Amino acid sequence: MRWKGREGSRNITDRRGKTMKRGAGIGVGGIVMALVAIFVFNEDPMRALSGVLGNQGQAQTQTNTEYKPSAQEQEVAQFVSVVLRDTEVTWNNLFRQANSQYKEPGLTLYSNSTPTACGTGRSASGPFYCPADQEIYLDLSFLNELKNMGASGDFALAYVIAHEVGHHIQTITGTSKNVRQMQARSSSKAQSNDLQVRMELQADCLAGVWAHHNEKRTGTLERGDIQEAMQAAASVGDDTIMKRAGIPPRKENFTHGSSEQRMQWFNQGLRSGDYNKCDTGI
Ligand SMILES: [Zn+2]
Repeated sequence: MRWKGREGSRNITDRRGKTMKRGAGIGVGGIVMALVAIFVFNEDPMRALSGVLGNQGQAQTQTNTEYKPSAQEQEVAQFVSVVLRDTEVTWNNLFRQANSQYKEPGLTLYSNSTPTACGTGRSASGPFYCPADQEIYLDLSFLNELKNMGASGDFALAYVIAHEVGHHIQTITGTSKNVRQMQARSSSKAQSNDLQVRMELQADCLAGVWAHHNEKRTGTLERGDIQEAMQAAASVGDDTIMKRAGIPPRKENFTHGSSEQRMQWFNQGLRSGDYNKCDTGI
């Protein structure tokens, strides 16, 4: 994706190098990659995040003065900012066309752990969106995990960000709330998981819708970009993650959708550019 020199978002908070004053778990060394991956993209941090601080209100950070991002890390942070801005422009336009107003989400870059309105955010949870503060949380070390899972390239990261923005859209349009209510009424874990899968696939589709309109507007896609996004979508499919972790991939345990479904829904949004085509049955 051609992004250098392009406008960035003003909604980024950079907390990298700040460490939590309270709460254990700074540094997540030793966590098995596969377990890490199960939580990748989990939309509901209340469930995904463990070890929530007893007293969130007192969670504070302090600056680690030894932290100096490398030139490469700074470049990735800049890329994130441009992609977030691109999502803002696209969704502002689409909401306006629907006679509505888009409320832009924030995005916090952090390292290791960070206080959020949904409890302590940890790298091990992967990128996530917290509905309570309408903020996306991203630890860029996740990129190494994505690479280990066979997905690399800048557009893989763009897909991840656009997916989390998709959860934000589900939140501000009320879809998330409806699904939570349906889940509360659901009779089994399998049924609740199925609803969760539909949420995740819709977020993938919304990421595709963004990619469609962004390309129309900016023409910044480069050869291989769509492939990178598809590869990323595939690498975080439940069946792929479970196989990697040595767990039999059973559909009733899926929470994000299979690799094939994730690619299919991203593609559906990408080709149509129509969020009405992101009806995953929720
Ligand atoms: Zn998600």
